[in-house]
Amino acid sequence: AHLDRIAAVDGAVHAFLHVDRDGALAAAADIDRRRAAGEALGPLAGVPIAIKDVLVTKGMPSTAGSRILEGWVPPYDATPVVKVREAGLVPLGKTNMDEFAMGSSTEHSAYGPTHNPWDLDRIPGGSGGGSAASVAAFEAPLALGSDTGGSIRQPAHVTGTVGVKPTYGAVSRYGSIALASSLDQIGPVTRNVLDAALLQDVIAGHDPRDSTSIPRQWPSMAEAVRRADVSGLRIGVVKELDGDGFQAGVRQRFHESLDLLQKQGAEIVEVSAPHFEYAIAAYYLILPAEASSNLAKFDSVRFGLRVTPPGGGTVEQVMAATREAGFGPEVKRRIILGTYALSAGYYDAYYGSAQKVRTLVQRDFDAAFEQVDVLASPTAPTTAFKLGEKLDDPMAMYLNDIATIPANLAGVPGISIPAGLAPEDGLPVGIQFLAPAHEDTRLYNVGGALE
Ligand code: GLN
Repeated sequence: AHLDRIAAVDGAVHAFLHVDRDGALAAAADIDRRRAAGEALGPLAGVPIAIKDVLVTKGMPSTAGSRILEGWVPPYDATPVVKVREAGLVPLGKTNMDEFAMGSSTEHSAYGPTHNPWDLDRIPGGSGGGSAASVAAFEAPLALGSDTGGSIRQPAHVTGTVGVKPTYGAVSRYGSIALASSLDQIGPVTRNVLDAALLQDVIAGHDPRDSTSIPRQWPSMAEAVRRADVSGLRIGVVKELDGDGFQAGVRQRFHESLDLLQKQGAEIVEVSAPHFEYAIAAYYLILPAEASSNLAKFDSVRFGLRVTPPGGGTVEQVMAATREAGFGPEVKRRIILGTYALSAGYYDAYYGSAQKVRTLVQRDFDAAFEQVDVLASPTAPTTAFKLGEKLDDPMAMYLNDIATIPANLAGVPGISIPAGLAPEDGLPVGIQFLAPAHEDTRLYNVGGALE
């Protein structure tokens, strides 16, 4: 049914870069066989899932939205993909994304934009717009995304879906094509909170192949949803993320959601995070710095594209021609920013200062979590904007991330949950909750109470 739905609507939505029809049917038949043989299967066995193209998949092309990886078929599965296969889920294919996960609209994909199923002239968010749109358009019931500065949560906000960035290190990033290694995290995109919890229960857990993976046993997120109870829970509204710059209808739906929680016994208090206003500036130095290092492996020799200048060329000329042709403008912009910020003489002024700001943002979280159990804000300042509207203005694009980036800088978990439609434009709005590191169950508790 999902393959039929993809065939019917994906021409207009363009959520998928690759659909693995044969692989999906074979995996589904295998589950049917195992079920018929009486095997005890997990709760998500047989459920289809869409996979963001940032995760490498054995036998399926994996491009991360870039020309430089066009046609590359990896020889192995990323750990989250291994885990969903082991749990019996059925991968449908790979979803569209901003090139190397750089963006907030999926317009930076080398393979053309994804369209928001709520209004095809609008962006589906980014970088994981394909995963969010596939779920919103009923092409897939579940999807995997990656969140470095909001790429799971902001697409969830603009498509009326649930998106979760787990605690940094909760889900292995082995086989995730790295953007910024100190920020990247893999997580679920779903239509409701229980589905997200069930999927996080499948993908979380220690992986010795990812040195940042946390060696611990995680409590069940699904249990947290089923036993949701917010009486006595202290919810802090971040003052700096609830004012100017946020669309009226976004704020209205945000406060209505808080009222619902208050009626169930939660205590709503205002808290201040004075350094959040510097988070975007710090992020857009740290991310390009790490990205410029991570992307150095695309050298025309090891993976994907190789462009040889007319008449041949030296190794360096081949590398330059390949990168010129293979990387899009946003990727080039960030590599230049990152290498500049890391260069001798500028390191302290830019990268060093950004790391100090990062520590101040982390201290804001520490202080806030002494007063409250979770923090709340709108997930992003506005509803889905029009395709093309911010494409020529990188600063305007970066400002979308104001509410989501602090969580990545601090490594704390965050969830975006649908909060209704904005009255002025009828488009989806998300509410974001953030919890201390390792306390992902608190997000699912609040989410369960809202659902
Ligand atoms: N929009 C942010 C950026 O462009 C977030 C990206 C992400 O989370 N991958 O960097």
